[in-house]
Amino acid sequence: MKVPLLDLTAQYASIRDEIDAAMAAVVTSQHFILGAAVEACEQAVAAYTGSRYGVGVSSGTDALLVTLMAEDIGPGDEVITTPYSFFATAGVIARTGATPVFVDVDPITLNIDPGLIEDRISTRTRAIIPVHIFGQLADMAPIMEIAARRDIIVIEDAAQAIGAEDQGRRAGSIGHYGCFSFFPTKNLGAYGDGGMVVTDDRARADKLRALRVHGETVRYHHRVVGGNFRLDALQASVVLAKLSHLDAWTEARQANASLYASLLGKIEAEHPSRLRLPRTVTDRHVFNQYVVRVANRNTVKERLATAGIGTAIYYPVPLHRQDCFSSLDYRTGELPRSEEAARSALALPIYPELTDAEIRYVARSLESAVDEPEPNRKRLTS
Ligand SMILES: *Cc1c(COP(=O)(O)O)cnc(C)c1O
Repeated sequence: MKVPLLDLTAQYASIRDEIDAAMAAVVTSQHFILGAAVEACEQAVAAYTGSRYGVGVSSGTDALLVTLMAEDIGPGDEVITTPYSFFATAGVIARTGATPVFVDVDPITLNIDPGLIEDRISTRTRAIIPVHIFGQLADMAPIMEIAARRDIIVIEDAAQAIGAEDQGRRAGSIGHYGCFSFFPTKNLGAYGDGGMVVTDDRARADKLRALRVHGETVRYHHRVVGGNFRLDALQASVVLAKLSHLDAWTEARQANASLYASLLGKIEAEHPSRLRLPRTVTDRHVFNQYVVRVANRNTVKERLATAGIGTAIYYPVPLHRQDCFSSLDYRTGELPRSEEAARSALALPIYPELTDAEIRYVARSLESAVDEPEPNRKRLTS
């Protein structure tokens, strides 16, 4: 049996007519940049996330960047974020000239630990970027409380978490801004790059709309410097066509996660130092990734590859240990939970079209692999 980490061809086969018609309509219109298709997509995604305004942009990375630009964050400013994320989260902070300040994660959810934030706030702190890693909301209530008290902006990196929910609020609608990615492997993926910022604040939405077209408000008049951060109509048409299927896909991901949990729960209970399964501690985890932690990751990854099973390591190097941030002077061991996650995390196939037989095969293969010895294996401690 072959089980890839992700197979997008199965999804396309199931919605081919709709997607082809949506893309053909854009081609027929010959209107490719912004315009009606992008506006329809913005309204639908904003409504889905429970936000008032949506501003389509060129990628999830640019969603984060343009948001920092809208808040005039730059040299001399600090932005607090998690060290355990895709590079873009911290990369955009550095690109504005501001300094990323990394706060370690909660050992269970691998999301930023709100209890550690206050200690790292300084007079220069302008924003906090929590990431809803793998599709589960960060613990937002205390983050919003700290931010309100200190007059700090909260920008949710919801790239992996569209539709995730807790306490009646959806990802992206809780902070001052929510940033989404339509990269093809995300739960709501385009057929190329794309992204969106959502916000409830009209003035902020207007500023984002200007910044995505070089800061232009009146044609050829620029009060601020922006960039080309536009979403194109073909991508918007794909996203809009897929949105009506998103809940069904999410439910399939959740069902797959439940099956893994029922198949692997016993081994985790018997050998918690070898295997940890992801925990759902919020109302709606959307499982962009199903990430287990294993003590002998090299061996497990190799054994699964031999069995024809695709896996991936998100993320092997925590952001505070990246070469490009060496001048920030974080020591190895300084953010230990992120480092343990970086050592042990392994993503298993979770995409909606997986069959139960495939999941059972992955679980069986994992079960035998976690028992194998590995030199320098470190017990999982949390
Ligand atoms: C994918 C992702 C991004 C960047 O999105 P792109 O559309 O690839 O630019 C940012 N943050 C996180 C957590 C992501 O997973």
